Amino acid sequence: MRPTPIAAFFLLCMAHYASSQPRYDLLLQGGHVIDPRNGISAVRDVAIKDGAIAAVGERLNASDALKAVDVSGLYVTPGLVDIHVHVFAGTGERNSYAGDNSLYPDGYTFRVGVTTVADAGCAGWRNFEAFKEHVIDRAKTRVLAFLNIVGNGMRGGRFEQDLADMEAAPAAEMARKYKGLIVGIKTAHYGGPEWTPVEHAVEAGTAAGIPVMVDFGTDHPERPLADLVTKKLRPGDIYTHCYSGLRHELDASGHVNPGMIEGRKRGVIFDVGHGGGSFAWRIAVPAMQQKFLPDSISTDLHVGSMNSGMKDMLNVMDKFLAMGMSLDDVIVRSTWNPAREIHHEELGNLSVGSPADVAVLRLETGKFGFTDMYGARLSGTQKLDCELTVHNGRVVYDLNGITRPEWTTLPADYRETGNAAWDAVTPARGGRGGRAPAKK
Ligand SMILES: [Zn+2]
Repeated sequence: MRPTPIAAFFLLCMAHYASSQPRYDLLLQGGHVIDPRNGISAVRDVAIKDGAIAAVGERLNASDALKAVDVSGLYVTPGLVDIHVHVFAGTGERNSYAGDNSLYPDGYTFRVGVTTVADAGCAGWRNFEAFKEHVIDRAKTRVLAFLNIVGNGMRGGRFEQDLADMEAAPAAEMARKYKGLIVGIKTAHYGGPEWTPVEHAVEAGTAAGIPVMVDFGTDHPERPLADLVTKKLRPGDIYTHCYSGLRHELDASGHVNPGMIEGRKRGVIFDVGHGGGSFAWRIAVPAMQQKFLPDSISTDLHVGSMNSGMKDMLNVMDKFLAMGMSLDDVIVRSTWNPAREIHHEELGNLSVGSPADVAVLRLETGKFGFTDMYGARLSGTQKLDCELTVHNGRVVYDLNGITRPEWTTLPADYRETGNAAWDAVTPARGGRGGRAPAKK
């Protein structure tokens, strides 16, 4: 059947529309791509379309892109994944990680290349939905969460030492209700000699099919670290603060606790969780020399850490460069490894079809210093800066305006210069997904 003239005209318009649409929204050209998931560490172009990675190749055509950006001389990595932060801010509760000790995430993420964080147990099953409503759903950063085994979450000693509030069943039920968003169960800060917090966390994690992350609290001879990682935790469970030295991570002779080596063989994961009081050079350097490397690099971001030895995600990564780890080895521990640990294998990589979360980093050389929890310094010659962060295909941070036009090239009365197809910072009015044109 022949189409009516009106239908034919419509089809012609559609065909013209399709052919005039650029193949890519954003093209990052000429950077050194480090994508451990796909075994790439080489100069490549990265193309993005509709919020997803569209192509990674040696020479992609700039004319196929709505916006092409020269990132030569820079490193292009998956958006960084920080699996230990504290972001349940805004409740007004003093001395509480479900309150004043936490930070709103967006101020500490995109500017250092982080696109995904996992809150490490600020909320338990009793207050998780408030956390979700007030922080997770409102953040631009992708915020996931470890659910505290304590029903009240990390609200301070009175709550965190209450064994009666560490119930596996309601924690598992909440985790199942928000599968994918709740990525694990956390136990933390426990001061007593009992195994109950760990056992109940593992019980909840098993019921919900998710890993457990352990901050092992006060050191007790009744519950030694070796037993935790060789007997109590399951393969895939995460021991955080692994270079704190607070729980015999090194033995008296300065050797890595044999239990940690045994635990690693069983598949237990070791995470940095630097924080304000969980990273010491006198532990980390010998452990690294003995080839006990972390599986994942994370910050333990909170109000007490972000201006101390720990500055931000890049600072913690810099510390591993300063201890002699290669940049490729640092990147895998800040992207693909943590994404796998929290069972989000669509993240932390630049595979075609993955969410287009990308960090563009500059490796500076010079004289730099890095401090630990005790204020001791280790000197280094390399430091990462974040030039550009892309989240779900759109630029969310651009330090030096490398995606932007020179103002002198613009009309005298220029306004917003971007396009909402690739720009979340200052998209042009009327662009795709942008605001409506202003009325004159
Ligand atoms: Zn923490």
